[in-house]
Amino acid sequence: MKIATFIHNGERKVGIVNSELNYVECFKLAPAVANLGGLAILELLVEGEELPELGAKIEFSDIKLEAPIPRPRRNIFCAGKNYLEHVKEVAHSGLGSGTTSSTAAPDAPIIFSKVPESVIAAGAPILRHAHLTSQVDYEAELAVIIGIGGREISQDDAMKHVWGYTIINDVSARDLQKRHQQWHLAKSLDSFCPMGPWLVSKDELDVSDTTIKCWVNSELRQNASTSQFIFDIPSLIATISAGITLYPGDIIATGTPSGVGMGFKPPKFLQSGDRVRIEINGIGYLENRVA
Ligand code: MG
Repeated sequence: MKIATFIHNGERKVGIVNSELNYVECFKLAPAVANLGGLAILELLVEGEELPELGAKIEFSDIKLEAPIPRPRRNIFCAGKNYLEHVKEVAHSGLGSGTTSSTAAPDAPIIFSKVPESVIAAGAPILRHAHLTSQVDYEAELAVIIGIGGREISQDDAMKHVWGYTIINDVSARDLQKRHQQWHLAKSLDSFCPMGPWLVSKDELDVSDTTIKCWVNSELRQNASTSQFIFDIPSLIATISAGITLYPGDIIATGTPSGVGMGFKPPKFLQSGDRVRIEINGIGYLENRVA
C-alpha cells in the first residue's frame, strides 16, 4: 500500500496510489483529519480500525504531492555514519561526535534529530540560506515509519513495530555542523528535510537489500544497498526505544551512503538551481531543486 498526501482543488487530501502510479484513490476525510496527511490513515491502521471510504480517483497530473507526513508530531530521529564507506569519506572533515578522524565504524549508533518544521514535499525548493552557509549538502536516506509504538523494543521484535518506509534527503550545512559541533542546527534549517514521494507499507520492499541512489543534476553521486548498514533497522529501533517511547508515525532516517558532496576533492556542495533526485527501489523517487 502506498499512501500519498496531496493538494487537489486547493485542499489537502490523502489517498492510496494505484500500482501503475497514475492515479490516487482519495479517502473521504473531514478537512481537519486530512490535514494530518498520511498520519491520519497510519494511526487508524495501527489501531486496527476500519479505513474511511474511498471516493474519487484523481489523476496524478491533477494533484500536487505534499510530504506524506507533512508535519510529523515530533522530531525526526536520524542515524549518523551508518555506512562504512561514508564514515571513511568524512573521516577527516571535523564533523565531531567522538569519531572525528576515525575511519572505523562507530561503536554504537549515532542518533540526532531534525525538527518537524524542516519537512518539505517532493518538488518543493530546498532553501539556500546563503547568509548562513556556503556548504549545503545532500544525504539520500531510507526512512522507517513506526507503526505500533513501544519502549524497550528488542531487536527480535523491532520489525513488528515498523509500518513502512519513505525517502528522506537529510540536507546538511557542513560549515554549521563544524562550527556548532552538535549536528541538530545544521540539519534542521527550514526546508532541510525533503520527504516523499509517499509512505510505502513494509510488505512492498525488502529492506535487507534495497538499492538507494542519488543524482545531482545528471551525475550519479550515491549508489549503495541497505545491506551495507553498519547498524540495521532492528538495531536502530532497539537503541532509540531503549529509553525513549516510540509512537505511531515516528520517523527514523537510517543514514546516508558514501558519495555526499563533502566527500569529493574538491567538495561538490549544492548550488542554486541544482536538482537532487533520490531513488529507492520499491518506493519511488524524491526530487527537489535548490532555490
Ligand atoms: Mg544523514
